[in-house]
Amino acid sequence: MLARHVAAHLHQVFAELIRRVINAEDGIKAGDDRALRTRFAAEGLTLPSVRGDTFVDEAARKCRVIPPPEDVRANAVVVDVWIARFGHALHRPENPIKRITELVQRSSGLAVVAIGDRRLRVRANAETPLDAKVARDFGAEGIGLCRTEHMFLAPDRLPVVRRMILASTPAEEAAALDELRKVQTEDFAALLRAMSGLPVTVRLLDPPLHEFLPSVDELEIKKATVGLTAEESKLMDAAHSWAEVNPMLGTRGVRLGVIKPGLYAMQVRALLAAADIVASEGFSPIVEVMIPLTVTKEELALARSWVEQEILDHSKQLKPAAKSGAKTSIKKSIKKSKRPKVTIGTMIETPRAALVAGELAEISDFFSFGTNDLTQMTFGFSRDDVESRMMPAYLEAGLLKRNPFETIDQVGVGELVKIAAARGRKAKRGIKLGVCGEHGGDPESIGLFYRAGLDYVSCSPYRIPIARLAAAQAIIGGSKAETK
Ligand code: PEP
Ligand code: MG
Repeated sequence: MLARHVAAHLHQVFAELIRRVINAEDGIKAGDDRALRTRFAAEGLTLPSVRGDTFVDEAARKCRVIPPPEDVRANAVVVDVWIARFGHALHRPENPIKRITELVQRSSGLAVVAIGDRRLRVRANAETPLDAKVARDFGAEGIGLCRTEHMFLAPDRLPVVRRMILASTPAEEAAALDELRKVQTEDFAALLRAMSGLPVTVRLLDPPLHEFLPSVDELEIKKATVGLTAEESKLMDAAHSWAEVNPMLGTRGVRLGVIKPGLYAMQVRALLAAADIVASEGFSPIVEVMIPLTVTKEELALARSWVEQEILDHSKQLKPAAKSGAKTSIKKSIKKSKRPKVTIGTMIETPRAALVAGELAEISDFFSFGTNDLTQMTFGFSRDDVESRMMPAYLEAGLLKRNPFETIDQVGVGELVKIAAARGRKAKRGIKLGVCGEHGGDPESIGLFYRAGLDYVSCSPYRIPIARLAAAQAIIGGSKAETK
């Protein structure tokens, strides 16, 4: 009876939440298509089917996680305090936390416990200030993945990116990079403002460069029909020269940084400048620089050294007299700097990276599991190809129970996540662990991430309410974190 009351109330809150999401056309990007929204709505409507009674502690204003006793756990409803607050905003003047508390106390006399300061946080994958705002409104506790390539693809940026790729002299390349730096600074500043006080993980450029060039096939057709302009001919040469047979296993991620070192340096410079700008405006930027697709300790150490060098140069530039001692190490110099705190970490996206996580942890402040690539590389399934034809056939034939790109493969990919988390923590106890693949918004996968001891999941802004509830359910479900 009580459960039905609570469920009805939450149902109402979620129905309203979903209505808002579906109406929020402005905030929906190309990637967040109708299917995603429909899926979100369907999942949202079934969410209140959580278990049993509610635990809310109004008096303990500072929310704590107090798992209910073992014997009531099986019969417990999870109420995320934030969701209740959101409901409050929508259904004023009624206070849902109070109402739920009263309901629980009146009918069961049970202890009331809030799930607020969760041990599994939820962040957003976002690149634009609008997405960041939506995410924050939904309760995101930071940005777990800013895919900087999305900034490069904006119509006013693409020609500059292409100039950088086409540059035939170092001076031309430097000029294009400098132009990109200016616009990236603005982009990063907008994001850091929107997420002031919360961590923002910025991933340095990841995709293969040919993704920024026109398609070779289209240019070939144009060449054969109306002909190409001089600029288009140059672009076609570049597209040919950057084309790869297996681009997702080719020159991408940190490998790109090795081939074009100026690129990552430029991005870090833009990020540091942006952090300074927003700090001077009174905001609190918290910056996390993320190196994509590293597979060896050596390449991560190299990439980290570029970032540290930029941090050092940046702090010198701001305080020229501060450090001149030739023997001062880069690390010590950075420590003395008063600049906003910057941490440096890597993605774990390949089975090798997962297995050598202990080594990578030695030079990483955080890991973020890129479970999209990790799934692709573990199964050997090309994520751009298998979902259209092969996956439906495999699901139909019962060769796979679930699409592993949607729900984490517990015994394979999930096992690698657990191994990497354990090895990473063994090497560095305080290393921060998160996940930023699509699985970060999938309730079933979230349970595994919690059990693996991850600190946060990061997902699309519109999946945040679902992820928050799943995180709360994982916590109250009492699953023990295995690596903490
Ligand atoms: C991933 O691989 O899980 C990830 C987040 O990176 P991307 O999807 O951009 O390759
Ligand atoms: Mg990836």
